[in-house]
Amino acid sequence: MSDSAARPETQPALNLKLQGIAGSPGIEIGKAYLVEQEELEVVEKRFVEDNHIPDEVQRFKGAVKKAQKQLQRVIDDVPEEFRDHVYILDAHMMLLKDKMINNGTIDNIERENVNAEWALKIAVDEIKSVFKKMPDPYLRERAADVTHASKLIMENLLGTPSNNITDIDKRVIIVAHDLSPAETTQMQLEKVKAFLTDLGGKTSHTGIIARSLEIPAVLGLGNATEHIKTDDLIIVDGTAGVVIVDPDEEVLTQYQERKDRFEEYQAMITRASRLPAKTTDGVQLLVMGNIGLLEEVVSVIDHGGDGIGLYRTEFHYLNRPTLPSEQELFDNYRDVAEIMAPRTLTIRTLDIGGDKFASGLELAEEMNPALGLRAIRFSLQSPDIFNTQLRAILRAATLGNVRVMIPMISRVDEILAAKRMIEEAAESLDKAGIPFKADIEVGAMIEVPSAVMMADILAKEVDFFSIGTNDLIQYSLAIDRVNKQVAHLYQPLHPAVLRMIHRVVAAAKQAGIEVYMCGEMAGDPLNLPVLLGMEIDAVSMNPISIPGVKRMARMLSVEESKLFLEDALKQPTTQQVMKLVHDTYGPTFTKAGVFQPNNN
Ligand code: PEP
Ligand code: MG
Repeated sequence: MSDSAARPETQPALNLKLQGIAGSPGIEIGKAYLVEQEELEVVEKRFVEDNHIPDEVQRFKGAVKKAQKQLQRVIDDVPEEFRDHVYILDAHMMLLKDKMINNGTIDNIERENVNAEWALKIAVDEIKSVFKKMPDPYLRERAADVTHASKLIMENLLGTPSNNITDIDKRVIIVAHDLSPAETTQMQLEKVKAFLTDLGGKTSHTGIIARSLEIPAVLGLGNATEHIKTDDLIIVDGTAGVVIVDPDEEVLTQYQERKDRFEEYQAMITRASRLPAKTTDGVQLLVMGNIGLLEEVVSVIDHGGDGIGLYRTEFHYLNRPTLPSEQELFDNYRDVAEIMAPRTLTIRTLDIGGDKFASGLELAEEMNPALGLRAIRFSLQSPDIFNTQLRAILRAATLGNVRVMIPMISRVDEILAAKRMIEEAAESLDKAGIPFKADIEVGAMIEVPSAVMMADILAKEVDFFSIGTNDLIQYSLAIDRVNKQVAHLYQPLHPAVLRMIHRVVAAAKQAGIEVYMCGEMAGDPLNLPVLLGMEIDAVSMNPISIPGVKRMARMLSVEESKLFLEDALKQPTTQQVMKLVHDTYGPTFTKAGVFQPNNN
């Protein structure tokens, strides 16, 4: 390992262990990069030769002077009616003259031979960590003032208002209080070794993106941002949800070995991932990938995916001031369809809202966004946006094996209205003489309890079901999928969840339509016996999970799974279902090398 700890040799290692939620598997060892809530940009660390140190110190002092002048102008120009609040700016001015910031930065430049930006960031992180530990809440909040004041200096140093993570020369472990999907996708992900966040749970979209890009992540750490500073050496175990800050040599060696073992295991199952997921009694389960970006298609293919069971299309609407045009969407869908053909591509229509927000859309603030104007509800209220997307999908469907899927159906009329919109989009294309697929398969996502109860009727209206367990669990167990306080209650093997899934699969079988599962539950090999027992047709998951699930499927038999399911459905608690799973399949999991258990 080339990285060395920031701690001086003489100090003992902290070995501070933080427990969070396993967001994305894998082990990484590296330097932390603390991202402030209001600071997405990442400053670059540069080595400064001894003979350039005085210039660098001067550059820093110059930037402080400029910042003071700019702030003084702001203070002078504050209108009379806001004079009472000038004390906030005065406090910032004092901070610009503060010894801790100024001397701390200069010390860092001189001691570490680093550029002024990096030296300032390190000094500020340290000061803030002192503030954040103060018992007095008022003083604790002053950490934000330090951020604001230091930002003024930073902007003058950089010469531009912001920098981007592209500029960082080394790969880092991103440590943040929270990251929205928009923020996560804005980062240059090849520079990210791992993600750590104070908030978030396994099925938050940061977790989903991290898994999909095979970046280890530990989420829901509570207060990691208070314990970790930029440049701290840390170990991230995304499989166990553990983070170790400033580890000693022994712990480092131990984790390096674990990292090697995990990577060997991944390589082993990936080699066999091209083989079909045929059970020991000859039933083939389709194992597909979930994607949110065109770039992930390669990952689905590399991991042996039998198709794409869920293309989350919201990312086209994030990080931009305008909406995507029909042509832009068409180009993208066509590319994915062509790469995947003849395998299936399931395009889900826009699922904006919940924890996914679009900057180009005027969305009202909602008290409970997960229960608000989300997904199909939004699409039906924005017919122009919906129509543009449907036309693009229908056009792309001529070039591959494309199906369309409607998210968050909670009532029969929604699917009828969506189908009407599809027909209208088709008619308008027909009139304009633009090629499109007339008989596209339409599916409903089953992720709201009311859809479960209406599954028999819904099944008559659609060509397939796809069970979205991330939301189904959230809505049926009343567990906010991004709230770490209740993450331990988020249980895919909860008897109520099993009964609901069973009901949906039975309704689909009765109506003769296919039934898929595309929530995160599908990607955990531990859940496969119950799903095979229900005779689900296909499972779709993060590409990285495909090889493990395929390997597991090849070790199970549908007939045995059916008997097992009968028992599982009789269990009164999640713990009892889990015990049954382990008692019955423990040795098979061990043989399959399943890296588990992790039900947090
Ligand atoms: C789900 O809810 O299970 C699902 C697959 O959709 P998303 O995670 O995008 O809400
Ligand atoms: Mg969902």
